[in-house]
Amino acid sequence: EAVLPGQRPSRAILSIAGSDPSGGAGIQADLKTFTAIGVYGGAVITCLTAQNSVGVAACLPIAPEFVKQQIQLVLADLPVSHIKTGMLGTDAIAGAMAEALHNFSGEIICDPVLRASDGHDLFQKSADNTGLLALLNTATVLTPNLPELATLTGRHLETVQEALAAATGLLSQYPKLRAIALTGGHIREQDAEVEDFLILRQETGPEIFSVNHARITTVNTHGTGCTFASAFAAYHLLLGNDQEAFCKTVSFLDTLLRQSANLTLGQGKGPLAHH
Ligand code: PLP
Repeated sequence: EAVLPGQRPSRAILSIAGSDPSGGAGIQADLKTFTAIGVYGGAVITCLTAQNSVGVAACLPIAPEFVKQQIQLVLADLPVSHIKTGMLGTDAIAGAMAEALHNFSGEIICDPVLRASDGHDLFQKSADNTGLLALLNTATVLTPNLPELATLTGRHLETVQEALAAATGLLSQYPKLRAIALTGGHIREQDAEVEDFLILRQETGPEIFSVNHARITTVNTHGTGCTFASAFAAYHLLLGNDQEAFCKTVSFLDTLLRQSANLTLGQGKGPLAHH
């Protein structure tokens, strides 16, 4: 069969996340991000939410076995090299995801979404969080913000030093974890500059890179975390390198935040617009 000129080896990303019907966060944000960056994306839904830009009203978790079946069917068909996980909903769903991803040998970029910025819980803990821990054991990259890092490590975090020490601790706890991209928006919130960090596992010990950028004052930040993690996954697929993917992701977010800053979509925290 003739190969058409310009045909490229095809790879895809799969987002496994919650649905945001207002389109700002969750799988809707993920798919827009993949498309904007130029990567094919699939989406497995873990949870439906009823929400808008003002806040989350309710969550409807999908049956764990059904989440697993969705993942298995997509992985059996599409050339998925990267998986991005977002809202998990329940510990049982996280466990089902971990089972479905057990033999997956590509990248798993895990955005440890625990709570929406309006305070609504997006993850129902169990007594021992076995599902969440099993999922974290499959992750190659984590993309927490400061509150998520604090919850994951059970520490009170305020300073950069405390945050970097906590991230380094996570790297030594999860053997598959190669990198942590820590978004710095919640660190020193009064500063005009934001510093985002990439903490990499190296044989000689953790290596830390950081990028500084201006803090953009805007209410339109809904879904920023989802978009960051998806952009990292998409750029990593295209570039195959953590540092380059991280730098591209930081500047992608900076562009989106700037171009969305004056939009009036919704009555609360508006979304990022990818156009
Ligand atoms: N809804 C879903 C489905 C999400 O995945 C997330 C965050 O990851 C949110 C809501 C929270 O968005 P925000 O932090 O902008 O409130």
